[in-house]
Amino acid sequence: MKIAVTGGKGGVGKSMVATSLAVEFARNDKTILIDADAECPNDHLLLSIKRKKYTFVYQPIPKWNFNKCVKCGKCAAVCKQNAIVFVKNKYPAFVKDICIGCKACIVACPAGAITATKKVIGTIYTGRNYGIDLVSGELKLGELASGEVVAEVRKYAEEINQAVKAKITIIDSSPGIGCPVIASLVGTDYIVAVTEPTPSALHDLKRVLYLADHFGIGCGIVINKFDLAKNFYKKIEKFAEESKIAVIGKIPYRKDFVEAAIKMRPALEMNPEHRGVFRKIIKEMKS
Ligand code: SF4
Ligand code: SF4
Repeated sequence: MKIAVTGGKGGVGKSMVATSLAVEFARNDKTILIDADAECPNDHLLLSIKRKKYTFVYQPIPKWNFNKCVKCGKCAAVCKQNAIVFVKNKYPAFVKDICIGCKACIVACPAGAITATKKVIGTIYTGRNYGIDLVSGELKLGELASGEVVAEVRKYAEEINQAVKAKITIIDSSPGIGCPVIASLVGTDYIVAVTEPTPSALHDLKRVLYLADHFGIGCGIVINKFDLAKNFYKKIEKFAEESKIAVIGKIPYRKDFVEAAIKMRPALEMNPEHRGVFRKIIKEMKS
């Protein structure tokens, strides 16, 4: 079973939920946790895992042969990223950092003056603790293609799972609803949409649930820190009821969640009350 943990707004507790679910699942089933928040992966910190480099993630980039270039400027004209600067009667100049590797310039060049080479845009790491095999993708600082890194971390997780043979895969997505999140949701069986009782979190939750509906993936809502704003929490419940989406979990605000993050330990290790909450979420997911 592949489960994506997402939610739209940042800071609502997606990683805490993803790691806690992974710890609870791993008590009975082999479990892989994919940290697909490629811009700021931190599941390894929440689980005290010392990651090891598994491989690099590459992106194609163009390379010019100015002996063949006829200075027509077509490569610059097709580049939507404005990564090629062209001045009449000069050779094109390339701004490598903003190239996204689409290869449009290579296709457009009438003189065959551009070929493809590659650059490193990220790293895939692995590690293990609490019976969980972690596969973590990290975008290189200054690079833009986090969606590519998410697609690759999922590909390598499949490769690693040939040996692990995990029954459960949990994907901890990045915030938002953009390309990296879509790359996290595609091909999953269930979406856990984590939110909190605030207007901005509800706004973003609706956008994520639209995505889940678009892809036809079953989902349930987990309301974190639900007891901090009981009136607004009721609004989320009303929305869920009207949308016919189950609220599969309500997590209370407790200081030991903060303590768990500081001590780099799963929250449900700190307090048996939390273990009960996550067991209930798993039960609801399976029902
Ligand atoms: S590969 Fe795409 S983004 Fe990169 S320079 Fe060529 S056209 Fe621009
Ligand atoms: S499209 Fe090809 S020939 Fe034209 S400027 Fe670019 S590299 Fe040179």
